[in-house]
Amino acid sequence: MIVAGIDIGSRGSKAVVMDNNHIVSSVICDTGPESVKTSISTMEKVLAGTGLTLKDVKYVVATGYGRVLVPFANENISEISCHARGVNWYFPSVKTVLDMGGQDCKAISIDSEGKVVNFVMNDKCAGGTGRFLEMIADVLSTPLTEIGDLALKSRAAIPFNTICAVFARSEAVICLKKGVAKSDILSGLNDAIATRCLNLLKRVTIQPDFSISGGIAKNKGMVAKIKEKVGIEPKLAPDPQLIGAIGAALFAKERFEGTGKREEMKIQYGYSDGTGDYFITVDTGRCDGCGECVKACPAGLFTLVKDNYRQLKGSIKEESRKKLHIVCPGFKACASAHAVNCHSVCQKDALSHTW
Ligand code: SF4
Ligand code: SF4
Repeated sequence: MIVAGIDIGSRGSKAVVMDNNHIVSSVICDTGPESVKTSISTMEKVLAGTGLTLKDVKYVVATGYGRVLVPFANENISEISCHARGVNWYFPSVKTVLDMGGQDCKAISIDSEGKVVNFVMNDKCAGGTGRFLEMIADVLSTPLTEIGDLALKSRAAIPFNTICAVFARSEAVICLKKGVAKSDILSGLNDAIATRCLNLLKRVTIQPDFSISGGIAKNKGMVAKIKEKVGIEPKLAPDPQLIGAIGAALFAKERFEGTGKREEMKIQYGYSDGTGDYFITVDTGRCDGCGECVKACPAGLFTLVKDNYRQLKGSIKEESRKKLHIVCPGFKACASAHAVNCHSVCQKDALSHTW
């Protein structure tokens, strides 16, 4: 049975065609300004030379940032679930996944069937993302594909106190002017990014085996630093950038056949900064989508979204995720000021705060 997965990411678009769990064809393209056009051309490219047309593909699952804009997809599924499923297909023993994409990093805890148990995302700033590395490659006038190998030649990594894109850029420029080797600048940045990834992974607990997915997993210098920090050799797929599309294709087969079990996961919305950890966790296994948190929150943080199984679940609004501790005073402070708050109305005990 022919199925396909298409992953429209912020920087790259990937597609995979599978026939009964075997990869028939795969492709990686740049994401253009229009996601609809990008998805159509990516699909045309992955089918080219296979003797197949879109009509032969029984089911298509779209994932990634542009997943809702794929006109020929039968369904769209979050990239978190697709990365978990894709990694599990290659490595069933993996329990912890670090997905390093174009504009965010995610730490994902998965079970032996590849279902997401817990995940946390860093999308507060560009540090440690593909976008960030593109910027650094540009500053160093080095092709993006070469910065990984170059970092491995470092003899004395420069310590970076920040991976805030703006400050890291100016620190890198100052180092260059002082004559610091590019390899030492890159190694220092990779070290700072790897430390940040480690902190993200700790939030979902690091259990072996461990894998890295996403385009940055092709950067050998970055992978070496993450291995050093985490203390576990990561298992890497032949092309880690295709993992989301492979997971989407695996879901496509499952959905077409009507098989597969529900995922019940803890989703941590928020971030850590210099002042503390600011995360609100929604346990989707408990949440029944009643919407009471949406009505109760005086800061208007909550919304309801459909999960991968079209069930409504409580969620934090996209625009609030990067400023949680500014808009929410924390559970204790809110409870003392408001008799009715998100926790008091949640009959399913599905919410928790870290502050
Ligand atoms: S109040 Fe609780 S159960 Fe209801 S939608 Fe919000 S998180 Fe879910
Ligand atoms: S603690 Fe108060 S302000 Fe914060 S999310 Fe809950 S209801 Fe909203």
